[in-house]
Formats: sequence, structure tokens, C-alpha cells
Amino acid sequence: MDLFEYQGKSLFARMGVPVPEGREARTPDAARAAAEDLGGRVVVKAQVQVGGRGKAGGIKLADGPDEAFKHATDILGMDIKGHTVHLVWVEKASDIAAEYYVSFTLDRGVKKHLAIVSARGGMDIEAVAVDEPDAVVKMHIDPVVGLTNWQASEIVYRAKLDRASARKAAAALRKLYAAFVSLDCDLVEVNPLILTGDGEVVALDSKVTLDSNAFFRHPDFEEFRAAFVEEPMEKMARERGLNFIKLDGSVGIIGNGAGLVMSTLDVVSLVGGAASNFLDVGGGAGADTITNALDVLTKDPTVKSVLINIFGGITRCDLVAQGIAEALDGLELRWPIVVRLDGTNAVEGREILQGVVSDSVIPAETMREAAEKAVELAERG
Ligand code: GDP
Ligand code: MN
Repeated sequence: MDLFEYQGKSLFARMGVPVPEGREARTPDAARAAAEDLGGRVVVKAQVQVGGRGKAGGIKLADGPDEAFKHATDILGMDIKGHTVHLVWVEKASDIAAEYYVSFTLDRGVKKHLAIVSARGGMDIEAVAVDEPDAVVKMHIDPVVGLTNWQASEIVYRAKLDRASARKAAAALRKLYAAFVSLDCDLVEVNPLILTGDGEVVALDSKVTLDSNAFFRHPDFEEFRAAFVEEPMEKMARERGLNFIKLDGSVGIIGNGAGLVMSTLDVVSLVGGAASNFLDVGGGAGADTITNALDVLTKDPTVKSVLINIFGGITRCDLVAQGIAEALDGLELRWPIVVRLDGTNAVEGREILQGVVSDSVIPAETMREAAEKAVELAERG
């Protein structure tokens, strides 16, 4: 589960990493009150789970309470890359001397943690990584040993962080790593971790992904879940027992099994398209499940074509085909559907599908052919 910036920073604070003092605000009046309370200059920051808020106008400096009110009025309700802002975080403005980039993730390939650190953090880190890869330091951390003082200092040295505050930077890295491990995170990213005018090292932003499989170890994380405003489509899918994630493209995807759906996303992108979602209907998909899945996609205006990709294992293709046929019967289709069935009883399944084939229900033999057809239809539609 991804956390909001202010939630991640509350965890950092708990672990002893310095963060600016701030308040939550759901209304412009609350933002004004927060600014009065904090005193001096403040920053009003949109709380959405997507990067690039600064460039989208979701982060604004205010001289005092009136300006904080005005910025909160502009930012609340704003749409940032498809995410609506329901909450702003108002925090004391920081005096920034340098912006660093820090992240900790798991490198499954080498079975170690990976630290990525750069002295060139801030809003253009992606460009730095491409244009000046040497400015981005990557170092593996042995999970058994952990991030030692020695290794943290070496990272700080190699990433060319400020010499005078090297010890503070190394201490911040170790505390962030301790947070990453002890809180069972999949990702801890701080961009920027700043150096202030008086040499302090402070986390100004946070991107924290918690491993939901470890929630049983952290009952206090329930408060994070409660603050989470689910996107309507994801909520609908969850209530219907479907595993759904919204993406940016125009080809709606329905498949059985997470692995198959992931490969379907890859093949769609390989043939030049982009999926509008991930949707796994799980095993034993009958008419109800297919109907539910199509219902969810109907709520998405960005879908231009749909690709149903079923591989029969324990699930028999003829039963799924029966489900698709029943689901399509009487359904007013808003887009063409390409169906690919393979695996157990595929021949029987395809025969059943023949009964519903039309201009807008198109069978395909292979995954690649199905993806090509669906992408072409999405481009046309
Ligand atoms: P993001 O764009 O979603 O990654 O949001 P960030 O929290 O990283 O903020 C974007 C940028 O806003 C930072 O890189 C800073 O340059 C700037 N910013 C954020 N907070 C402050 C602050 O307190 N003072 C100043 N001067 N700039 C800030
Ligand atoms: Mn940032």
C-alpha cells in the first residue's frame, strides 16, 4: 500500500529522521488555521499518491495564513494526473541549500537491498539519471549486516553530498534504512532530502510503499488505510472481488491470473499500445465474474477496446466461454472486444464463442494476435 507524503513523513519522524512540522487540512479555512498555528512562511502541499506534484502546481509557498488559504482553495479539488486532491499538508517552509535524492528498495536479482543516492535530487531526478548517470550512486546493502555507519559514510562520500554535514547525512540514511526494514516497506524514497542553510539534513518529501503482507505485524498501520480515499473504480472492483488497478492507456484488459494479466500488459505495450487497467478475474471465471469485470470497465471513459485473455488450466475454457457468451448476451457494448482463449478445452470454448462473434466481438488465436487487434481497434476508436 502506498502512503501519502504526510503519512510517510510521520513514520520518518517516529524513526528520528528530521521532518518539517506540519498540519493536515481538508478545507481552506483549516489551511489558514494551520498556517496561523505554525507561524511564518509555510508550504501548502497537495496530498495525492502520484509524483510530480510540484510541476503540476500542487505545491505552493505562502507568506502567511491568507496566502495559505488562497493556495489551499486552488489546490483542494485539483486533479493531478487523474488523482483528486482531498487533503493538503501545510508545513513550515524550509530554507533549502541543497536537494538530495535517496531511496531504498529490494533488488530481488541479487537478494540484497539497494540504496540509490544523488546530490542532484529535486524535481528533475529522472533527467539526471538519464543524462548524468554518474551523479546517481547505487550500492547494495547486505540485509543481514544492515547499513553500517561505515557504508552510509561511503555512500555520502561517493554521492558527493555536502562535506560539512556528512555525518548528519549518513545518520539520516541509516535511520531511513532502519525505517525501510523495521516497517516492512517495499520502497522508501525521499526526494528531496534537503540540506538546510544551517547544515541540518531534513526529509522534505516521502514516498513510502508498505508491504501489505506484513500488516499483521503493524496493527497501528490501520490508521493509514482509514485515511485512504479509494478511486471509485478500484472501490467498485474490490467490492465485487476483482483485482483491479487503473493504468493510463486505452486498451481494457481482463484476464485470469495475475501472471497472465501482467504478460498481457507487456504484449500490449510490445505491439505499440497501452493498457487502461490491470484486471484479474481469478480462477473459475463464470458469467457473473465476466459481467462484473465488463461493468467495471464500462465506468472508465478512457477505454477504447477490450482484450479478454483467458488461459484454461484448472479453469476450463468452455466454462469461461459460456460465461463470456452469457455476459455479452443483452449487454450494450461500448467498445469492441477481442477474446483469446487457450488451454484446457480451448477448442470447445472457441466453438461456444462463435455463437456471439460479431463486428464487436472478435476471436483471436494467440496472445500477440489478440493484442495487435485490440490495439488497432483502440487506435481507430
Ligand atoms: P513532488 O514534486 O511531488 O516530488 O513534491 P516535493 O515535495 O518533492 O516538492 C517539490 C519541490 O518543491 C521540492 O523539490 C522543493 O524544491 C519545493 N519545496 C517543497 N517544500 C519546500 C519548502 O519548504 N521550501 C522551499 N523553498 N521549497 C520547497
Ligand atoms: Mn518529491
